[in-house]
Amino acid sequence: MAERPPAAGDAAVSNAQLFEQACEVLPGGVNSPVRAFGSVGGTPYFVDRGRGAHVWDVEGNRYIDYVHSYGPGILGHAPFTLVKAVAAAAADGTSYGAPTEREVRLAGEMCARVPGLQMVRLVSSGTEAAMSAVRLARGATGRSKIIKFAGCYHGHSDALLAAGGSGVANQGLSGCDGVTPGAVADTVVAPYNVVPQVDDATAAVLVEPVAANMGLVAPVPGFLEGLRAACDRAGALLVFDEVITGFRLARGGATEFYGVRPDLWCFGKVIGGGLPVGAFGGSRELMRHLAPLGGVYQAGTLSGNPLATAAGLATLAALDAAAYERLEAIAVRLAAGLEEAFNSAVVPAVVPRVGSLLGLFFGGEAPQNFDEAAASVARGLYAPFFGAMLRRGVALAPGPYEAIFVSLAHSDADIDATITAATEAATEAATEAATEVA
Ligand SMILES: *Cc1c(COP(=O)(O)O)cnc(C)c1O
Repeated sequence: MAERPPAAGDAAVSNAQLFEQACEVLPGGVNSPVRAFGSVGGTPYFVDRGRGAHVWDVEGNRYIDYVHSYGPGILGHAPFTLVKAVAAAAADGTSYGAPTEREVRLAGEMCARVPGLQMVRLVSSGTEAAMSAVRLARGATGRSKIIKFAGCYHGHSDALLAAGGSGVANQGLSGCDGVTPGAVADTVVAPYNVVPQVDDATAAVLVEPVAANMGLVAPVPGFLEGLRAACDRAGALLVFDEVITGFRLARGGATEFYGVRPDLWCFGKVIGGGLPVGAFGGSRELMRHLAPLGGVYQAGTLSGNPLATAAGLATLAALDAAAYERLEAIAVRLAAGLEEAFNSAVVPAVVPRVGSLLGLFFGGEAPQNFDEAAASVARGLYAPFFGAMLRRGVALAPGPYEAIFVSLAHSDADIDATITAATEAATEAATEAATEVA
């Protein structure tokens, strides 16, 4: 496939025009809040196409992309094997409402990679995965209460929105209009990185094993092990929301990376390669509570969709041991370069890294929980830094609580260009922030 040259100058429609039109027909102009640039200011760029590590907007501007759909784009944009697999699948029909071979192969591939995972149910989003895992945990234990951690995001289902990270944090919403007190009555929110009291009324403790929706916050040593032990003592189920970490941190995700096994898993993002997919899973013993084997109902018209499973299989096929090594090397190079950039600009910032996942916090120390992350965000440097990077052709997430996503398509030249941009952008952001205060 030939590289189309950017069409700078002769764009049929500008970002600003499209955003204006979008605001007429889409609330806030977007289909997911963070995309509206509310917490960074300015007009969103409308993506025309992506290839490898880059996206081009409708005006022909090229960006080195660190959003990558917040995780699914682990191979970069439009990898040939995935495009071929999805096109071939589409030519055979886009949905049947009957079982297909690829569902069996994708589920098998997932179970082969994640230690302890024996069965999965495929769904169409991470939200559905987490929501259904909670229902399953309640059904299997006969208990109601769930414990989640402030700043962790588990999708937008009612019970899990309490003190959520990502877009919920960006909006400054502690809760959410339209969620009834009843819907969150059984949700207990605890601070991340401290093992909470788990009692025998608790069905499940739900955690992002690496928190990647309040910036990037790693689990302190002993946190995940402590959760495992507390759940075992109370007879509660431990649920790892691996929607971001799954098949990204390692072949076997955070489960392999940290050597702690949950009872239930949630997946999404990487396993769909950019198509709408999620999954939840666990042992055969737990998963037999799910309909049609058991009494916990869960279903989906598009679950196990033929295009999505084709994309997922193509993605996992590319993720061998060498791929994980390469991905981590890219992240190491970027993290070191960004820290160097902030140092030379004399702007205090930290770039936490776990495997290939990166975060960015302004201030002297890496946060360990949501309050500390929020204190970093309150320094107000992310928005001007984001803008200065975007003007230099580097697209970070338009919100301070998101992670930085590298892909296998990021070349050394992309990373080096990013670091050069960051050195200038850090100085510019610090100046801009100081001017605003003055
Ligand atoms: C993105 C995300 C979700 C929600 O997935 P959607 O596909 O956006 O519904 C759930 N949990 C975590 C950890 C996520 O990062």
